[in-house]
Amino acid sequence: MFNINTIDRFQQLETPFYYYDMGLLRQTLEACQSASAQYGFHVHYAMKANFNPKVLEAIQSYGFGADCVSGNEVKAAINHKFDRSKVVFAGVGKSDKEINAALDADIFCFNVESVQELIIINDLAKAKNKKANIAIRINPNVDAHTHHYITTGLEENKFGINIWQLNDVAETLRKCPSLQFVGIHFHIGSQITDLEVYRSLCIRINEMQDWFEDHGFQVKVLNTGGGLGVDYHHPDTNNIPDFEGYFKVFKDFLNVKPGQEVHFELGRALVAQCSALISRVLYVKNGLKKHFLVLDAGMTELIRPMLYQAYQKIENLSQNSKFEIQNTEEGSEKPPLITHSPLKYDVVGPICESTDCFQKDVELPESFRGDLFAIRTAGAYGEVMASGYNLRDRVQSVYSE
Ligand SMILES: *Cc1c(COP(=O)(O)O)cnc(C)c1O
Repeated sequence: MFNINTIDRFQQLETPFYYYDMGLLRQTLEACQSASAQYGFHVHYAMKANFNPKVLEAIQSYGFGADCVSGNEVKAAINHKFDRSKVVFAGVGKSDKEINAALDADIFCFNVESVQELIIINDLAKAKNKKANIAIRINPNVDAHTHHYITTGLEENKFGINIWQLNDVAETLRKCPSLQFVGIHFHIGSQITDLEVYRSLCIRINEMQDWFEDHGFQVKVLNTGGGLGVDYHHPDTNNIPDFEGYFKVFKDFLNVKPGQEVHFELGRALVAQCSALISRVLYVKNGLKKHFLVLDAGMTELIRPMLYQAYQKIENLSQNSKFEIQNTEEGSEKPPLITHSPLKYDVVGPICESTDCFQKDVELPESFRGDLFAIRTAGAYGEVMASGYNLRDRVQSVYSE
């Protein structure tokens, strides 16, 4: 992701900023594209992971659809030329304004999360003399074995409709002539790295589609959601997720009937590795028991570590590249990045909150004011969650090309 030239370029720039490796993004999109295409699967990109215009442009150019969770995301998808017939709209709290905008945009489908919402969409569609395509988001009660902050498919979560409410759904659908049922939707969580979880999901989807067919509804679309995880610990050696293995689980375990379409909604897996947050050390503070590195980026630029207790790899680019140059000049074959014993630092941001800490006790080479730092795997739920708290400047983006 970084070579000496990139780091030289960073020296000239004001920090903090998100750096995007557009080549890696394209490789990732290609890998996903070819792995899904072999089974005829459709992928909608979950736009909330990253709606940076250049990123959206790249994703759109590969023909992906868009999975939106707000009216403005629907608008952004259309503005970025995503095919309307490949735009879906999920969310537990769609407002009337958002539903109306999506109806006007003629999107493919609403992923509906409650019986109450079915009735509202029916009324709003009727007022416009339209028929709204809907899929029922079912809460399959499958444990994603991921962090509880990002689990969405258990009965205790606010998302989706529980299985014991499906009779109510069927009855409501029969009474709503402005709704067209197209299929069933699931999304059980994020950063899922255990593919077994998806096998359990497939088994549940098979049961659910049988239920709907038994009750007289034709299921045209099986939407399995997203959630495929990435390797936050090895952003260089494992920078493209195992799309082959992921799609193969669905190929092997999903009971796909003739004429049915299988849809996916990947967010993180497509964009996480292609970006890093680049920052400089402002101050090195030595306490009695602790050394602190105060960066010029904090939770206002990247909140995942604070919000979800998420791990993201932290690197001192300046010191690493110095050792690399030094060792290469001495002619050693594969330079160890760190040649002296590392120090332990708490890497913190400048925001007036104690929680504004990226990671505690990080082993790093001795670090100095002005050193460039990279916080890796920041392409998903990074830039999009930036805030103006403390009246901070808007974080900038820099691209490899
Ligand atoms: C967030 C979200 C996704 C994408 O999740 P990732 O973990 O980023 O793949 C997919 N579908 C829905 C409904 C979502 O809310």
